[in-house]
Amino acid sequence: MKAGQVIIIGGGLAGCEAAWQLLRRGHTVHLYEMKPQKFSPAHKMENLAELVCSNSLKSNSLDNAPGLLKEEMRRLHSLIIDAADKTAVPAGSALAVDRILFAAEVENQLNRQKNFILHRSEVTEIPRDKLTIIATGPLTSDAMAQEISRLLGSSYLYFYDAIAPIVEADSINMDKVFWASRYDKGTPDYLNCPLSRKEYELFYQELLAGEKVAARDFEEARHFENCLPVEVLASRGLKSLAFGPMKPVGLIDPHTGVMPYAVVQLRKENSAGTLLNMVGFQTKLTWPEQRRIFRLIPGLENAEFARYGSIHRNTYINSPSLLSPSLQLKNNENIFFAGQITGVEGYTESAAMGLLAGLNAAFMIEGRILEPPPVKTAFGALLNYIISSEYADKFQPMNINFGLLNAFPAKKMKKKDRNSLLVNQALQFLNEWMTSQELI
Ligand SMILES: Cc1cc2nc3c(=O)[nH]c(=O)nc-3n(C[C@H](O)[C@H](O)[C@H](O)COP(=O)(O)OP(=O)(O)OC[C@H]3O[C@@H](n4cnc5c(N)ncnc54)[C@H](O)[C@@H]3O)c2cc1C
Repeated sequence: MKAGQVIIIGGGLAGCEAAWQLLRRGHTVHLYEMKPQKFSPAHKMENLAELVCSNSLKSNSLDNAPGLLKEEMRRLHSLIIDAADKTAVPAGSALAVDRILFAAEVENQLNRQKNFILHRSEVTEIPRDKLTIIATGPLTSDAMAQEISRLLGSSYLYFYDAIAPIVEADSINMDKVFWASRYDKGTPDYLNCPLSRKEYELFYQELLAGEKVAARDFEEARHFENCLPVEVLASRGLKSLAFGPMKPVGLIDPHTGVMPYAVVQLRKENSAGTLLNMVGFQTKLTWPEQRRIFRLIPGLENAEFARYGSIHRNTYINSPSLLSPSLQLKNNENIFFAGQITGVEGYTESAAMGLLAGLNAAFMIEGRILEPPPVKTAFGALLNYIISSEYADKFQPMNINFGLLNAFPAKKMKKKDRNSLLVNQALQFLNEWMTSQELI
């Protein structure tokens, strides 16, 4: 097999995972990590693969999407999941780790490989003519962010996300809501949840009183007017939402024949319609508060949230416009992106995109093309989200969830049965794909 060299910039979860995939296939990796010469505002340890906040990689159970993604990664020989399994601490059904042992395990495994060369320095220039994987993460250094901006154009690089919650469509009570567009113009693209005055006022009070996530000291409490947190908008007065994102004008509730006092509008997030985005509801409420307060909205009493809302400092690129399914730049196939900077969210998701970038770079050196994993696998679903042009103009980071698999069964099933069907199907597709790509 042909062997080659790859430069990886950033020794976090994605960079280490990408390195591992290349090393296991006999290629040489030059990994550049700026620590300890320079630390982001959140990184504190000298080791590679630092978990900057929680020590949990979320659920390890095979009845949900984060658990499925981990199992797929295990089957693809993931270094990050292997190190997490080896350094796990008791945490119920979650995969939580001793963060010091975890980072040491990842670094030791890499250092044991003879083709692994670690450079402890900040990279400020991206080589255009050498195979390079950029995995500098949500807190990419300023100089590197400027370089990425020169490479891609500043309108394709973002520094904050403003995420509205996403609801699983089949968890909505369709008897209480209605599809319509304002003044019946065009197609009825919005699912409207109507609120009476009493329901609105209760919702409003809870929104104001709900517990919010505090901004970190490196995050400016600066918001852009068109993506204000919904609770900040609400704090401007009782009617601010009813005249803003919850305005009912032009919408008649077919159940009552009149215009509601206020509405919450949801729009399809994916073409399959399995996920619906709460329009204008970007928020800094804590996750439990989002679940409690947004379930006060008629129709959403039993809503399952595929993604909660958030607003935080996050460097990421507009992957749907820029990247091919192999995570390579469409206009320079030497350059790959991996990890959270591609627009995924979370430790496991970031490592997963590192794994794919590493595999794709390895295949390229070997003169082969890796087919993208099927969209009914967790890997394929996440990849599909970040490269699908349907998301380009409203791209926001995403964590893994079942709605992305575009595979909800047509008939309503119990959640437990549905999830088990999706998992079995995904693992079968993964095995077939691995066999066809000679990855087993
Ligand atoms: C404050 C914060 C808290 C988070 N908490 C969680 C959480 O609890 N759970 C969760 O699932 N996700 C969390 N995330 C989200 C995210 O999944 C993690 O940040 C994850 O570590 C991303 O992996 P990555 O490999 O893409 O980036 P990182 O793990 O951040 O790795 C990037 C690496 O690149 C290095 N680097 C940056 N610029 C350069 C440069 N120019 N040259 C060389 N090296 C460079 C950095 O030092 C770092 O080591 C959090 C993110 C942030 C910012």
